[in-house]
Amino acid sequence: MKRIIVVGGGAGGLELVTKLGRQLGRKGKAEVILVDRNRTHLWKPLLHEVATGAMDTGMDGLSYRSQAHNHGFSFHLGTLTDIDRDAKLIKLAPLYDDHGKQVVGERTLNYDTLVMALGSVSNDFGTKGVSEHCIFLDSPQQAERFHDELMNRFLQYAESDTVDEKVDIAIVGGGATGVELSAELFNAVEHLSAYGFKKLNRNCLRLTLVEAGPRILPALPERISAMAHKELRELGVDVRVGTMVVEATNKGLKTKTDELIPADLMVWAAGIKAPDFMKDIAGLETNRINQLAVKDTLQTTRDDSIFVIGDCAFCLQADGKPVPPRAQSAHQMASLAYDNIIASLNGKPLKPYVYKDHGSLVNLSRYSTVGSLMGNLMRGSMMVEGRIARTVYVSLYRMHQVALHGYTRTGLMMLVGRINRFLRPRLKLH
Ligand SMILES: Cc1cc2nc3c(=O)[nH]c(=O)nc-3n(C[C@H](O)[C@H](O)[C@H](O)COP(=O)(O)OP(=O)(O)OC[C@H]3O[C@@H](n4cnc5c(N)ncnc54)[C@H](O)[C@@H]3O)c2cc1C
Repeated sequence: MKRIIVVGGGAGGLELVTKLGRQLGRKGKAEVILVDRNRTHLWKPLLHEVATGAMDTGMDGLSYRSQAHNHGFSFHLGTLTDIDRDAKLIKLAPLYDDHGKQVVGERTLNYDTLVMALGSVSNDFGTKGVSEHCIFLDSPQQAERFHDELMNRFLQYAESDTVDEKVDIAIVGGGATGVELSAELFNAVEHLSAYGFKKLNRNCLRLTLVEAGPRILPALPERISAMAHKELRELGVDVRVGTMVVEATNKGLKTKTDELIPADLMVWAAGIKAPDFMKDIAGLETNRINQLAVKDTLQTTRDDSIFVIGDCAFCLQADGKPVPPRAQSAHQMASLAYDNIIASLNGKPLKPYVYKDHGSLVNLSRYSTVGSLMGNLMRGSMMVEGRIARTVYVSLYRMHQVALHGYTRTGLMMLVGRINRFLRPRLKLH
């Protein structure tokens, strides 16, 4: 029986492996395997909510083993370190427990078809001090670390007698992650005062959002970017555009003009790259940010048995621009890769991937949602804000849930979510 391995159970990989499991694994037509370095899945666009406590990974994470059991694939916990294309196998690093004791040694798994869906990590562009002093929001573990440090900082503030002290937070990168995190932090601070952090209110937060380019949300139309900028300023965010950070220290961020932006907590969200170990992995073609180059069928340029989807794929559109690293791209690529894997198993021709931009939305926590939508009925893009924008924003996550669980279960999950809003505190408090 042919063996298909998907490495990375994220926004794209988990949708793909679920579909393959249902269609091939369950019917005994192929062996379908998911490999991920984590035990549970959390949709990455929700990580800033984990960082502020608006979401609890313990409650909201989806167990890979349970998903595998329900959908006809098997799950291997492990971190991919290398591919041997001649032997058609992947290598997984040894697994250690929290005390450093080895649980399982290095393993190898053979494949007939391999799908790389490993996502991306933050790119600090080699900026001095960033890896030591800034937190990245690349994984649930990092988002939880930020949350712990944030809660400690708030506790320190609430217990201190100094009147003019503030909680200084700096975020580097005015893209969707930086903008959404900024708004979510103000939401958190307002809710925490109701849970015994009496002194906390939005005035205790000094939040600086730093962007090197001339405006925040550079990938979105100028009007949206101006709207979001205004909203953030009204919340109290110090938005610094045209400001290049050259170093991070334990006191804050140093700019190109030699200014120090003081900060107790710093987040780096200024760009992405595929993980460093992927550079030239197994002699495959990669670009300067380590993404694997693919043909329009999503197969690598040098090996047809390897497909790549999501953020780690370097896929060019007809206009020569790369497909952007977004959840909607990962979702679309998962659908096309599914069709093409089935076609290649049946000896049928493969289809080309065409990226469909449905627009971009930015959610400023409960304060506002802004963005632009694109569709077949409209020419160009249409600006949206408020309730409509919020509904469309949420529907991207609902689509992901439907792909993983089907309509009935997703409906039940929405119901449970509503009930939990009454039962659980608004924020994770521990
Ligand atoms: C805070 C934040 C907010 C965002 N908001 C939005 C948004 O609003 N809209 C939008 O479209 N996009 C958004 N994005 C981008 C979006 O999350 C990504 O484009 C999308 O998740 C990419 O999907 P993927 O499947 O390629 O990778 P991911 O979803 O990142 O999944 C990668 C998976 O691979 C696993 N993995 C990684 N390395 C290894 C390894 N060596 N071995 C085994 N497993 C491994 C990881 O554990 C993970 O499960 C946001 C990103 C962040 C960080």
